[in-house]
Amino acid sequence: MTTLSTTLAKRLEDPRLFRQYAYVNGKWVHGEGGREEAVYDPATNEAIGHIPLLEANQITAAVDAAEVAFVRWRALRADERCERLLAWYDLIQANREDLATIMTLEQGKPLPDARGEVEYGASFVRWFAEEGKRTYGETIPSHIPNASLGTIKEPVGIAAMITPWNFPLAMITRKAAAALAAGCPVIVKPANETPFSALALAELAERAGIPAGIFNVVLGEPAEVSKILCSEPRIRALSFTGSTRVGRLLMEQSAGTVKRLSLELGGNAPFVVGPDMDPKEAAYAAVDAKFQTAGQDCLAANRILVHESIHDAFVTEFTERMAALTVGNGLKSEIDLGPLIHRQAVEKAAAIVDDAISRGATLVMGDQSQAPGENFFMPVLLTGVTPQMKVWREENFAPVAGVTAYGSDEEVIELANDTEYGLAAYVYTHDIRRIWKLMRALEYGMVSVNSVKMTGPPVPFGGVKQSGLGREGGATGIDEYLETKYYCLGAL
Ligand code: NAD
Repeated sequence: MTTLSTTLAKRLEDPRLFRQYAYVNGKWVHGEGGREEAVYDPATNEAIGHIPLLEANQITAAVDAAEVAFVRWRALRADERCERLLAWYDLIQANREDLATIMTLEQGKPLPDARGEVEYGASFVRWFAEEGKRTYGETIPSHIPNASLGTIKEPVGIAAMITPWNFPLAMITRKAAAALAAGCPVIVKPANETPFSALALAELAERAGIPAGIFNVVLGEPAEVSKILCSEPRIRALSFTGSTRVGRLLMEQSAGTVKRLSLELGGNAPFVVGPDMDPKEAAYAAVDAKFQTAGQDCLAANRILVHESIHDAFVTEFTERMAALTVGNGLKSEIDLGPLIHRQAVEKAAAIVDDAISRGATLVMGDQSQAPGENFFMPVLLTGVTPQMKVWREENFAPVAGVTAYGSDEEVIELANDTEYGLAAYVYTHDIRRIWKLMRALEYGMVSVNSVKMTGPPVPFGGVKQSGLGREGGATGIDEYLETKYYCLGAL
């Protein structure tokens, strides 16, 4: 195992947050087979550390540990679990700067965005800490003579979590805090591109008094580890955030053990701009909704649908705003877009742009010769985008914005719904009738009207169609980790 990279050593106030091990049953472990993998800073392609690839028996050992630890964790009172989670929350907040640095180094996003993600991720821990005290059952008026009927909520059991690299911290806390509050132990498998945020969370969970075996982080060859997690009968719930392709695969692999599944999959968000909108207001919001995390966001506004009467003015404002975006290493100040996660992502983005141009789209902006490094992709604006193009059909996961003009509400509803995805949609209009009409007609799990910001602890997050199953956050987020037990007490 290599030592802490010099870049990190210099930057972290608490170097113990940077761990190059997996975390199983309260212990830092390396791979018994000696396999390991380097993790790179996408901005520089410099290796920032190594992670072990665990063997099958080590993944099973995490399940064994969770099974043992579950007995005590579920027996704690809800307020006792709440205290541990609040301690975890406090530690995440107290170490925000180090967590943000680790995140920027492994993921590439600008430091202020990384700080924002730490806050956002922590906020789920606080929310679910409290929510765990409210997992109420119900009393049911009896239809059976002399019987008392009702329900109680019980933890579903061991929960496995497979998470993506674009939000390396918040995608873990949004799941794990709900599971832990419900009384479930968790086994997290983070993306191999961004394991260090997950491991830092494990270090803080330990400091917060979360017992051994309750929060585990396993690392390995993704397909290998996932297969074990999916086929393991003692794991009762699997929560996945990632691509629809892998989500489908995990669903198939989990069929044999009939797991509870939560799937937060891809998105291909439409951003609908009504004819009544101020083009500048809408364009600035669209730039925000598209280019955050360099477009590597499941909520990114990929298909920007602008009423034909304001199309040209919108494109002018969008271009102006976009020209002010800065691209560079996220550790530097005043950077808006960091690198993409790796070279393949850059190649995919370039192919999507080429495909659009070859099918008749116009490249308004996006000169790749200006890119400050191998993994960087300059923001692109395409106009004249049509449903035949890849940029329309596929989630581009890059700073590539496509604009399409439309003529009527009916047409834009059809266009917006023309996708296998159904995660989030944006609507910009001040016409109350249009707001209501679109909000109802859009086939999405989340519709945000005149606001780019839409997510957070109190609201349900999730999609319809092939964007997934289940909801995270909100009053329903904890239900993903609870079973409803019905009781009938006859003639007591
Ligand atoms: P991905 O599906 O490639 O990977 C996600 C996780 O699955 C990672 O941990 C990865 O190691 C693992 N994995 C990859 N291949 C696997 C395989 N063959 N078998 C088992 N596991 C495997 O996704 P990504 O590239 O890390 O993230 C981008 C995707 O995540 C996008 O599609 C994005 O929309 C989606 N996403 C969705 C949400 C949401 O809440 N809906 C949030 C963030 C990201």
